[in-house]
Amino acid sequence: MTTKTSMPTLPSRVIIREVGPRDGLQNEDAILSTDDKIRLIYALSQTGLSHIEVGSFVRPQNVPQMADTSEVFARLQRREGIIYSAIVPNVKGALRAIEADVDSVMMFLSASESHNQSNVNMSVAQSLSLMPEVARIVREAGKWFEVVLSVAFGCPFEGDVPITYVLDLSERLLNLGAGQLTFGDTTGMAYPTLVQRTVLAFRERFPNQSLRLHLHSARGAGLANILAALQVGVTEFDSSIGGIGGCPFAPGAPGNLCTEDLTHMLHEMGIETGLDLHALMDSARMLEHMLGHVVPGQTIKAGICKHLEKTA
Ligand code: ZN
Repeated sequence: MTTKTSMPTLPSRVIIREVGPRDGLQNEDAILSTDDKIRLIYALSQTGLSHIEVGSFVRPQNVPQMADTSEVFARLQRREGIIYSAIVPNVKGALRAIEADVDSVMMFLSASESHNQSNVNMSVAQSLSLMPEVARIVREAGKWFEVVLSVAFGCPFEGDVPITYVLDLSERLLNLGAGQLTFGDTTGMAYPTLVQRTVLAFRERFPNQSLRLHLHSARGAGLANILAALQVGVTEFDSSIGGIGGCPFAPGAPGNLCTEDLTHMLHEMGIETGLDLHALMDSARMLEHMLGHVVPGQTIKAGICKHLEKTA
């Protein structure tokens, strides 16, 4: 008897949302000047990206790196076809985001009580209670409303987060008006089989709802988790230029998945991203110069593989 083996079918195209200017820079000790942020976002706008997370509207005392988000939006040279987004924790943040003419407002909350408490100083129920008002403000202004669910694959304080709990919470978020959901592996606790189990369970419960993944690589599983997600048909991912944005609970550990590493792997696999890898590398080098230290990304050190050079 012969066994027929075949490669799993992978998506032919993937959309990458760049989160470096917000999620990356927020975790850097150095605070970039507004001018540098605008230069970086401009460079990223030339790489083929269709969605860039620019900043957040939170209390400046809590996150001083993002204190100038309104100014960044005001001075940004917007390129047609690119969604410039920001994250907000509450109604006040949403009002500031609308005033700044943000294209897509993403409200964030956590899939665990202790993480939500430490991150936004509210219970999950309190965050949920604000959501209808935030959604109304954003939609009435004609903007996109999305929700990012942090620690969806495990919580640094509470450990495992049951998939059923994540799905129940997703249902409430969707009922409260979340247009698109993103599941965040905020501290890099996901692993390939957990990613697949979560995505498949999500798809079974919400067959028509798309899901974006925000994966981290704190324990080195980032790109393996991407492959696992591709195998179950996920086509939307977050990543950060240069891989900046370390794990907030483990100083020195890598955090966000690196945009140019992810793009390099996808292009090697023949998966389209619409991104210009050379332009991404230029942006990563520019960022390295601005920060004054080496970025965690690997492709910037190893270089683009020869056979990809022309088509990168
Ligand atoms: Zn992140």
